[in-house]
Amino acid sequence: MSNPINPSNSSSDDVVIVTRTRVACDGGGGALGHPKVWLDMGQDTQVECKYCDRLFKLDPKAADTAH
Ligand SMILES: [Zn+2]
Repeated sequence: MSNPINPSNSSSDDVVIVTRTRVACDGGGGALGHPKVWLDMGQDTQVECKYCDRLFKLDPKAADTAH
């Protein structure tokens, strides 16, 4: 019944490239799932989810449109 997912190299330091400074994270379900929260980078170009330690990085190419 388990849903196989490609194992990542790290279980706690995933990096997710996003195109917006404001992202929603719910841990992606599974063992690391958590209630959906919104993360705002503000003036920064990255933000870390305190729930699942995922690091969301703003795609440099998308920065221009993130106004
Ligand atoms: Zn998270």
